[in-house]
Amino acid sequence: MSSSEFKLIEHYFVRPAHAQRNRGVVLGIGDDAALLQVPAGQELAVSVDTLISGVHFPEHTAPADIGHKALAVNLSDMAAMGAEPRWATLALTLPEVDAAWLEGFSAGFFALAERYNVTLVGGDTTRGPLSITVQMHGLVPQGQALRRAGARPGDLIYVTGELGDAGLALRSLQGEIRLSPEYAAYSLARLNRPEPRIAAGLALRGIAHAAIDISDGLAADLGHILTASKVGATLHLERLPLSAGVASAVKKTGDWSLPLSAGDDYELCFTVPVKNESGLHDVLEHFACRSTCIGIIEDTLGLRCELADGKIVTPDMKGYEHFA
Ligand code: ADP
Ligand code: MG
Repeated sequence: MSSSEFKLIEHYFVRPAHAQRNRGVVLGIGDDAALLQVPAGQELAVSVDTLISGVHFPEHTAPADIGHKALAVNLSDMAAMGAEPRWATLALTLPEVDAAWLEGFSAGFFALAERYNVTLVGGDTTRGPLSITVQMHGLVPQGQALRRAGARPGDLIYVTGELGDAGLALRSLQGEIRLSPEYAAYSLARLNRPEPRIAAGLALRGIAHAAIDISDGLAADLGHILTASKVGATLHLERLPLSAGVASAVKKTGDWSLPLSAGDDYELCFTVPVKNESGLHDVLEHFACRSTCIGIIEDTLGLRCELADGKIVTPDMKGYEHFA
């Protein structure tokens, strides 16, 4: 990359020091590596996610939405661990240096970063088909992270927010269904601007036995908790929290794949022992979203999805497979 192109990138990604929350940043962008200070008694939670054009977002997605989503999906992983997000690195592969695109992308990225006090401390910039990788670093007090492996028989299964709207937006973009303009805008925002459930994740420390964020659909991601915890579960489908749009799509078709398998919801699914239920109710007001009990963890392995009339629905548990 030429020095003029690098200057342009620097212009969009190096924030003035006063705009950064420099908590724990010994050295930020500009050297061969960033230096970060992990406070005593805390563990460093690290996650990385790549977004590929045409796979993780539709090709014509607005750059500001891509910037938001690239960070949001990583913040969602921090939420699912009960970690407080702190420092991000950004590896950008761009087909060309396009000032308008970079302007939009960095605006979307930093607007979300500032809301959660996240500092960008480094990255890499290369030429090629558009792809964005964000690595997120967060902090969690020693031994308090929310893992997938902690679910126990008798735990209640909860989910934040509502399920299936992002999947509905995608079906509408692909021309499979037609949505009212008002609902189309709402569901498109759910697809392009997921809200990481950070406050919920932090509040669930010491309350939830297990947690995961729903990126591949409830069935697949709850399935990961079940496998890791060596337990099974029953879900009561009529209890799933659905927007009016998703509820009507399910009702019309009798097809539960939108809330169960469509993916891109970025809600949290977590399990809570009955003894912690009152503790959960005490912290719910901090969630900034609803939280719904949808089922129970059981000894019998496997996931059973029941309707009120006793009918069983068999969901697609696979999630998105890149190498299928
Ligand atoms: P190196 O060749 O040592 O990897 P680079 O030229 O790739 O150095 O990067 C120089 C500095 O700019 C490094 O501190 C790196 O972290 C930072 N950087 C490069 N690209 C980005 C980016 N897209 N976002 C944030 N920081 C970046
Ligand atoms: Mg580099």
